[in-house]
Amino acid sequence: MATQGNLDQWDDFVGARYNPNRKTEDFRKFDESAPAGVREFYRENHARQTREFAREKRRQYAVLGKGEMGIWETCEYLNTLVDESDPDTDLSQIQHLMQTSEAIRRDGHPRWMIMTGFLHDLGKVLCLYGEPQWAVVGDTFPVGCAWSDKIVFPDFFDANPDRQVPSYQTRLGVYAEGCGLTNVDLSWGHDEYLYHVVKDYLPLEAQYMIRYHSFYPWHREGAYQYLMDDQDRAMLPWVCKFNPYDLYSKSAAAPDVAELRPYYEELIAEFFPARIAW
Ligand code: FE
Ligand code: FE
Repeated sequence: MATQGNLDQWDDFVGARYNPNRKTEDFRKFDESAPAGVREFYRENHARQTREFAREKRRQYAVLGKGEMGIWETCEYLNTLVDESDPDTDLSQIQHLMQTSEAIRRDGHPRWMIMTGFLHDLGKVLCLYGEPQWAVVGDTFPVGCAWSDKIVFPDFFDANPDRQVPSYQTRLGVYAEGCGLTNVDLSWGHDEYLYHVVKDYLPLEAQYMIRYHSFYPWHREGAYQYLMDDQDRAMLPWVCKFNPYDLYSKSAAAPDVAELRPYYEELIAEFFPARIAW
């Protein structure tokens, strides 16, 4: 079972990797200095996220058969993901969500975007369903076509069975030029799962922020542009606008969850019914 500490370790690594004030200019050098736990995480993630795995998990979870829960209730459920090894260093999941959404709110963004910040990581409940970490978090990437060398730790893909499938190893693989990301299978994780849960309740911009927030090779590195369609090009700036709130709102003081709860209960009620299918 994944612990909160492990999940934070990955978030911290990504935050440091894309920190504009980072000393090491070379991503490869930076990645090599990653903590052993982060390297091991990506070794497993890259070896096991095959096209078939991603499609199977989508089939399993996109039907939303895990039961009904309200948004706040899901936050509290996600918060049961605790770090047994080091209980007081890291913020709880709900605090990360509130820091993200409070930073968005402070900057005067629309209510749907505050809502998006508040729920963007709820797909991590996959951990509580028993999914291993490598199938929940980490940078996401297209499966069924050649892996970009802009993906973190690209050498680890040598252990992925898709490496032996020649039709997956070309630039376009199973896709058509400009087919649009909607038609591309990404590695499975919390982004894709939550997208399926909330897509009927939030505007397109929010759907993109949720579905692609871990797709760093695309939104931070400019890879896979040949898969984009006009809608993706129109939505990319929104995904980029969201990213710093996710990565860099962490250092602020821990938000007072009890004090802020009424505001968020009202916000949730504006967009969602009391319970939704998960
Ligand atoms: Fe996330
Ligand atoms: Fe996040």
